[in-house]
Amino acid sequence: MRTLLLLAALAAPVPAAAAAAAGEAEARYGIAVQGVRLSAAGTMLDFRYTVTDPAKAAALLGHNVQPVLIDAASGARLAVPAPAKVGALRSVTARVDGRALAFRVEGARAWALAGFRSDVTPGRRSIPVEAETASGRSLRATAAVSVGPGRFPVEQITIEPGDDGEDLLAAEVLREEWTRLLGITSRVTPLPRWEGPFLLPATGPVTSIYGTRRAYNGGPPGSPHEGMDLGVAPGTPVVAANGGTVVVAQAWKVRGNAVIIDHGLGLFSGYYHLSQIGVQVGQAVSKGQPLGKSGDTGLVTGPHLHWEVVLQGMHTQPLQWTQRSFP
Ligand SMILES: [Zn+2]
Repeated sequence: MRTLLLLAALAAPVPAAAAAAAGEAEARYGIAVQGVRLSAAGTMLDFRYTVTDPAKAAALLGHNVQPVLIDAASGARLAVPAPAKVGALRSVTARVDGRALAFRVEGARAWALAGFRSDVTPGRRSIPVEAETASGRSLRATAAVSVGPGRFPVEQITIEPGDDGEDLLAAEVLREEWTRLLGITSRVTPLPRWEGPFLLPATGPVTSIYGTRRAYNGGPPGSPHEGMDLGVAPGTPVVAANGGTVVVAQAWKVRGNAVIIDHGLGLFSGYYHLSQIGVQVGQAVSKGQPLGKSGDTGLVTGPHLHWEVVLQGMHTQPLQWTQRSFP
């Protein structure tokens, strides 16, 4: 995966140079950068940007969710045509990059979503599919998905010594919370509960996009940003991006006050750093329903809403879910 040093290039010691670079970034990538603040050492401390040209920005944002559709009635979606008129399917199994896909079987049609992280190796995947029909007949076919390259910026984060943030970066804390999150988001409940495109969970400027790699205190870029940040003032209403069931509603160390929704079929959305949680575990929520208020709890450099969409443990590009309907 190529990394674009677009925003790191703005960390010049002269604000005028940063402004010129920002203008160039908008012309080339369709992303306008505002409010860049520089430290004496030239480190970028704070910035925000908006997508002004989605077509240009698409390459930067990346595309890493792909539907896998199996149509046993026509074979149209299969790379290798299936025999015509095989009737209803009973089960479908397939793996991509070693992971079992979660299929939803609907008569002669079945579908699954394949999610990929921002640091995935791009390229076409051939997916061997095995299916069994209701009448007990076995089918084999090959489906294909294409993972496009994404190009993501590097963001410089400064944490002052003595800040609580430094302690929170302790590897053990990060790992423990990550393991917990992975356990929760790797579960598959069989019924898809989302409908149509996802909503952005709060209204505000995007202050950090998905896939951004963060360098702390001038160090090397670390692992990619797994969601997107909305720079909203504390107390801003946060709503469910789509329908589902609340599976987490509690305070975490790094992610702060956290709400996670299970949308079914291995799809989850997470809402972090909240000042107030207004839902309970087990509660069913519909698209647009209030979940709580934004804040600055957990490991943050300022108030914001961190929002992520996770498919079977794979953190995917959240904006993709708002731009189209899956499958
Ligand atoms: Zn974030």
